[in-house]
Amino acid sequence: MESQDYKEESFRDHISTVNEEGKRVWIFPKRPKGKWYSKRKIVSYLLLAFLFLAPHVYIGGEQMLLFNILERKFTIFGKVFWPQDMFLFAIALIIGVIFVVFFTIIYGRLFCGWVCPQTIFMEMLFRRLEYWIDGDWNEQKKLAAAPWNRKKIVKRLFKHSLFWIVSFLIANTFLAYIISSESLWEIQTDPLGAHLGGLTAIVIFTTVFYFVFTRLREQVCTTICPYGRLQGVLLDPNSMVVAYDHVRGEQRGKFKKDENRQDIKKGDCIDCMHCVHVCPTGIDIRNGTQLECINCTACIDECDHIMESVGQEKGLIRFVSENGIKYRTRFQWTRRVKAYSALLVVLTGILTTLLITRNDFETYIMRQRGTTFQISEEGVVSNIYEINMINKTKYNFNVTLKLEDGIGKIETVVKQLKLKKEDQLKERFIIKIPFSKIENGKKILYVKVYGNGKEIDRIKTKFIGPTL
Ligand code: SF4
Ligand code: SF4
Repeated sequence: MESQDYKEESFRDHISTVNEEGKRVWIFPKRPKGKWYSKRKIVSYLLLAFLFLAPHVYIGGEQMLLFNILERKFTIFGKVFWPQDMFLFAIALIIGVIFVVFFTIIYGRLFCGWVCPQTIFMEMLFRRLEYWIDGDWNEQKKLAAAPWNRKKIVKRLFKHSLFWIVSFLIANTFLAYIISSESLWEIQTDPLGAHLGGLTAIVIFTTVFYFVFTRLREQVCTTICPYGRLQGVLLDPNSMVVAYDHVRGEQRGKFKKDENRQDIKKGDCIDCMHCVHVCPTGIDIRNGTQLECINCTACIDECDHIMESVGQEKGLIRFVSENGIKYRTRFQWTRRVKAYSALLVVLTGILTTLLITRNDFETYIMRQRGTTFQISEEGVVSNIYEINMINKTKYNFNVTLKLEDGIGKIETVVKQLKLKKEDQLKERFIIKIPFSKIENGKKILYVKVYGNGKEIDRIKTKFIGPTL
C-alpha cells in the first residue's frame, strides 16, 4: 500500500459495518488478548460486580442506589432525595456534562472502552460467551456460513439461550435500580397474575437487551450513541487517544525475514491486518482517529504481539495524541492538562460535598402573610408564624419548637406537631416576647426545631413589634 493512501480520507464517507449496497457487514472480531485486555477484564468485572450487587445493598434501611422515576424517589448511598432536591440533580447534571467534556478533551474516549456498560456487557459477557461456544473469529465465520446442520442448531440454541438468560439478569438488575430490589422480588415471587405490569416490564427489558446485544451490537457505539458522535467536536490534536503511529509505521509493507526495512524505506507496520481483525467496531485504526473507535485498546495488544514477534519495539499503536506522534513527544502534564484535571477534581468535590451535606429535613419558618404584631396589656408582643417542614427520612417525629436564648415562648395551635415519615408538615404557631426585648420595632430570633427531643434544625426569622 502506498503512503499517499494513508492520506486518503474516503473511509470517512461510510461506516465500516455497512457495505456499498447499504447492507450490514457482520463483525467477527478476533479474540483479544494481552496486557491491556487483562487490565480491562479486571476493571470490567469489578464494575459488573458493583452493578449487579448495588441494588441489593441497603444502608440504614434504604437501597444503596435507587432511581425510582415513577415515584420520583432517588437514593444515593442510602440518602433519600426527593423532588425538593431536584436542584441537586440539576447541578449534578451540569457538573456531569462539564466533566465529560473536559475528560474527553484530555483523555479521549477512554470511558467508552473501559467503563461504558454497553461495551462491558458486549465485550466481557456476550462476546466471551460467544468465543466459548462458537470459537475464535475464523470458526465463527465458518459456522455462520455453514448450512443449518445439527451442530449449528445446537450451538445456536445453546448460545441464544445463554444470551437470553444474561439479558434477563441485566433487565432485572436495571429494574431493581428503578423499582427497588424489594418490589422486584415481590414481582418474581408472587403469583403471576399479581404483577402483570411488572412482568411485562421484565419481558420488554429482557427483549430490548437481547436485541441490543445479539443484533445491534457495535451499531450502538457507531451510529446511535450521541457521545460517540460528539467526538469530532470534543477531541483536539492534544487529546490522548488510541492511535497508530503513522510516522513510524509508514510506509507499511509485508514482513520479510532478514530484510532491513529502513534500507528499503519501509516503516514498522508489516500490514498484517491483525489490528483490524481484532477491532470490535471493524475499523482500521491506521486510517487515523475515527468516531467508531471506542478506545478499547484491543488493537494495541494485538500490534504489540506482532511487533514482539518480528523483533520491533512495541507501541506502534498506543495511547498518544496526534501532536505526540507528530512531534515525537510523550504524554505531558502541560498547564492545560493540569488545569482541566484540577477542575475535574474540584467539580467532583463540589458534587460530593453537596450530596453529603444534604439535610434530611427542610424547614421554612415565615411570618404569616397579611398579619402584623399584637401587644397585650402586660406588654407581651406576639407574631403569628407558619412552619413548613419536609421529612426525607423513614421515621415519624414529634416536633417541638423552642426559642434560642429563652427570651420568649412559642405556642402552637395543635398540642403536638407531628411530622410523618417521608411527608410534610404545615402548621401555624405564635411567638411571644416581652416588648422590652424589641429594638427599633424588630428583633432577629432563632427558632430551634427538635424532632423526638433531638435538635434537627435552627432557623433564623424576623419578629416585628411597636417602635417607641
Ligand atoms: S481501533 Fe482499536 S481501540 Fe479503537 S475500537 Fe478498534 S480495536 Fe478498539
Ligand atoms: S497490527 Fe500493527 S503491524 Fe499489523 S497491520 Fe496493524 S499496525 Fe500494522
